[in-house]
Amino acid sequence: MALAIITILALIFWFFVVPDLATKIRSRLSRRHSSGLTDYELNTPPTGAEYFANIVNTLKSDFPWYHTLTIQERIEFANRTFVIRKSKAFYGMEDFVLTDKHEIIISATLARLTFGLKRRFELPSFELIQIYPSSFHSRLLEREVKGLTLGNGRIFISWQHFEEGHADHDDKIHVGLHEFAHAMMIEYEHFEAVPQWKNWLVMGCAMMIEIDTQDEHFFRKYGATNIHEMWAVTVETFFEQPIEFRRLYPEFYDATAAMLNQDPCARMEILELM
Ligand SMILES: [Zn+2]
Repeated sequence: MALAIITILALIFWFFVVPDLATKIRSRLSRRHSSGLTDYELNTPPTGAEYFANIVNTLKSDFPWYHTLTIQERIEFANRTFVIRKSKAFYGMEDFVLTDKHEIIISATLARLTFGLKRRFELPSFELIQIYPSSFHSRLLEREVKGLTLGNGRIFISWQHFEEGHADHDDKIHVGLHEFAHAMMIEYEHFEAVPQWKNWLVMGCAMMIEIDTQDEHFFRKYGATNIHEMWAVTVETFFEQPIEFRRLYPEFYDATAAMLNQDPCARMEILELM
């Protein structure tokens, strides 16, 4: 009788308790294991070195201008791209999924524009860059726009148009350079304290009249809208067609080079000699 009871208890233990126990142990082990890995992967940001390496690799593969720089300039340029990316908050609008690549190329475009500046090259007044998938409605302007820069430190960009401008190097249209040129002007209080601006302003105003009175002009018609747009359109042209710009308007080209402390024509000529 006692043997029968012991046997029944053993069978109950074997068939009901042991499997349940094993399941609980397995579940606990796997939970600890997976939650440990997930926490590790999600909560550990890349180290400074990894973050920097990612920037350098993206510049190498997706930012052709990087290859026109000397080794020293590449280090400086990558550093500046790093600083700019770190100093801005990037937001994808309308479900636009932002990746590292978007942030790096946008940061590098600003680094390129301000590469000749010693200080404030990251335009610290502008902390927020919002990226739309395509053109978007501006309530302020009451129309569809491809980019917008506001005095309150916010820049809005259509990724579709940014990408098109980035891919086509010499069509004189680059929404990224255009908006960052506006931001630069705001950052430096309309260049009022910049000695080179006086000279540029005289030529810029004369150019606006010329653009306005001609059906076809080297500079985009939009440049004649006001001096802010003239500056932004000139910056786009300066980086995208420097040789033609200098050939047609050497003094205005020099004035723009003086404002940005950069000379794309000289860089191209040096590259040809090497
Ligand atoms: Zn504009």
